[in-house]
Amino acid sequence: MKISKKQGVDIFHLLLEASKKQERVERTQLLQSIGIEENFVEGSVRINWKTCRGVECRLCIDACPTSALYWREGEVSIAKELCIFCVGCVGVCLVDDCIQVSRKRPSEEIERFSNARDVLMLLHTINSRKAVERTKSRFQNIEAQLKQ
Ligand code: SF4
Ligand code: SF4
Repeated sequence: MKISKKQGVDIFHLLLEASKKQERVERTQLLQSIGIEENFVEGSVRINWKTCRGVECRLCIDACPTSALYWREGEVSIAKELCIFCVGCVGVCLVDDCIQVSRKRPSEEIERFSNARDVLMLLHTINSRKAVERTKSRFQNIEAQLKQ
């Protein structure tokens, strides 16, 4: 049987999708087995080994909560299937743009981090959002009490 070029491309695409789905299932199972929940749909983590201070640093390895970063053959290696894109490694790295993490939220919003400032900005935004929510909730409580 002769397979047309288009059929070939479709089959390749289907196989690729099936393998990605399987990878996602295995990854979720693996993370659940160590009690970690995923908050992002997908993401990536990259290290620039040219600027990494490796042997005299290793701060990112200590900061990684899932052991996705580890020391191998004289450099920091990444077990990508364990990365939950928490950006802890970017937050401690002393070299700008040495570790780059990008992640997609369920809302489709994409975030990129490549230095400690980016991570501090994120924390600041989260804290500000929480402060606004707390103030709103207090205000609603006071309003409800006044109505009684
Ligand atoms: S983003 Fe988080 S989980 Fe991923 S490598 Fe960095 S510290 Fe580890
Ligand atoms: S924290 Fe940055 S410089 Fe230090 S080992 Fe990790 S990637 Fe390299």
